[in-house]
Amino acid sequence: MKNSRNISKVRNVTGGGGYVGRFAPSPTGPLHFGSLIAAVGSYLQARKMEGRWLVRMEDLDLPRVVPGAAEAILSTLESFGLFWDDEVLFQSSRFPAYGAALERLEEHLYPCGCSRAEILRSSGARGIYPGTCRHGLPPGKSPRALRLSTRRQEITFRDRIQGRYRQDLEREVGDFVVRRADGLFAYQLAVVVDDAEQGVTEVVRGSDLLDSTPRQILLQRLLGYPTPGYAHLPVITNRQGQKLSKQTHAPPLDRHRPLPALWQALDFLGQCPPRELLDGDLDAFWEWAIAHWDIGEVPRILSRPESCAIIE
Ligand code: GLU
Repeated sequence: MKNSRNISKVRNVTGGGGYVGRFAPSPTGPLHFGSLIAAVGSYLQARKMEGRWLVRMEDLDLPRVVPGAAEAILSTLESFGLFWDDEVLFQSSRFPAYGAALERLEEHLYPCGCSRAEILRSSGARGIYPGTCRHGLPPGKSPRALRLSTRRQEITFRDRIQGRYRQDLEREVGDFVVRRADGLFAYQLAVVVDDAEQGVTEVVRGSDLLDSTPRQILLQRLLGYPTPGYAHLPVITNRQGQKLSKQTHAPPLDRHRPLPALWQALDFLGQCPPRELLDGDLDAFWEWAIAHWDIGEVPRILSRPESCAIIE
């Protein structure tokens, strides 16, 4: 994508400061208001830090990828003035790197022969894999997925927005899949390999991924990668309390009316944007937003106003 060159003219981004942030949408549908919050939060933090903001297209789960969605997401980002630096990294081009990472993890991995139905039956109410195949495939089972042992792994980290977060991986998550039964690499693995490859120094994303972070930190440690900083933004829900997503039929953003959605995203992120920004243009919006961005003002959870025209 060419727009990384334009941005240095438009917004005087130098790429200095050593900060690298990213936005990593999955092309399973068009961009909606929930993903816009993650895009805006990560973008503003990177621009405020005078760092780079990268876009990674997480087209890893091939059966869920919707043809044309990646292009639609990228052109919506451009119409919203969210210009990224460097080339977009497509996860579908990275399978050899994920395979190499699995080889390096080998001593921590084991093949699992359990079917989805068997796991559901054996995992109890909390749905945690009980480690059936950890000490070898039981007779009659053939290998399906590859799992990573979480034995005695407890991870604590400090999230910039959500505060201290601790997870006993063995008890709360269980041995997790790094290569799926259909042969595809798991999100947890790909995201860690790519954040390291792209030199990401801080991950700013939705708090629906907070409980994935300890798995990712464990993988970073086992692979010898640095652990970036983390800032998990509050997640917006619909009236039924469900996260806005393609699955809950969040409406796509209107590419021709970026300002109202951007203004509302900034408002949700606790930045108190003045109403006059709605009457100006995109450049004026971003100028104000970058100058006033303070991640310390972002709320941990969103208190949702009664009427919410943009998202419904
Ligand atoms: N691709 C993930 C999503 O769209 C985000 C992954 C991440 O930010 O780590 O939910």
